[in-house]
Amino acid sequence: MRRVLTTIATVLCASLVQADEVNIYSAREENLIKPILDIYSRETGVTVNLVTGGADELIQRLSLEGANSPADLLLTVDVGRLYRAKEAGVLQSVQSPLLDAEVPANYRDSEGYWYALSLRSRVIVYDKERVNPADLSTYADLADPKWRGKICVRSSSNIYNQSMVASMVSRNGVAQTEEWAEGLVANFARSPQGGDREQISAIAAGQCQVALVNTYYLAGLLSSSNPADRANGEAVAVFWPDQNSNGAHINISGAAVTKAAKNKDAAVKLMEYLVGDEAQHWYAETNNEFPVRDDVQSSELLKSWGEFKADDIALDQLGIHNAEAVRLMDRAGWK
Ligand code: FE
Repeated sequence: MRRVLTTIATVLCASLVQADEVNIYSAREENLIKPILDIYSRETGVTVNLVTGGADELIQRLSLEGANSPADLLLTVDVGRLYRAKEAGVLQSVQSPLLDAEVPANYRDSEGYWYALSLRSRVIVYDKERVNPADLSTYADLADPKWRGKICVRSSSNIYNQSMVASMVSRNGVAQTEEWAEGLVANFARSPQGGDREQISAIAAGQCQVALVNTYYLAGLLSSSNPADRANGEAVAVFWPDQNSNGAHINISGAAVTKAAKNKDAAVKLMEYLVGDEAQHWYAETNNEFPVRDDVQSSELLKSWGEFKADDIALDQLGIHNAEAVRLMDRAGWK
């Protein structure tokens, strides 16, 4: 009897493998990705299995599992992590004319190892009551002594800060960027603590006047059902930095097919769906991220912050210079 059951199980497994499915390792908060995957499953009949975890932990898991990994697709935020995954040898390149047509060249890996699905900018937010936006200009200016004791920013262990600093290293070199970091640290209102939302609430609480945050965090506070969140969001305004030079720093959420993918075609089809109209609108409206496609509108809230010039640096530079960025922030005393 046991042998019969085993045989039935084997047949069942074989037929499951043949059915269209995609197994995802995702570092996105589940509520920021699962709803659109559920829509995809309903529309296509493709089974999507989602494992959620920390980005670095999932990349390490892919390394350890090697060819036996059940994952087909890695979803994560920040190009620094997608770059790490490519370097770790856990991804494979994808040839998709559709992805190449829809995702601008600076928002995908030149060899097809990863593609952006949505964009976010790391912007300056400021206290509407106490800061005159005419005093703001560039990221570089945040190192000016006029901001002494007025700046809040999260830890340098955070990849968003690392990627922003890496873009500066790419443009200005280590020495100049380190000098900037020293000036920035000298202007900190407090030792780095909390995430981007907490920098905004610190401004609302009067602990600092200026902070660096990703756009969707502010959008999330402003559209929160919690009045205290909304009040924190209302205390600040967005300033788009570097508008007369490189443009505001941009990062991505993205997707990559794993090296061990057993459902590569289905994984690529899902990636193609995620840059399609329905998913791009969903990203814009639900997540308050910028669509990766410039022909898809942003949410009304993001549009209300005005047009801005986005930095068009090739994003792999943020991965290439990550280690230098981490070391110089450490030397500069950015905790
Ligand atoms: Fe985030």
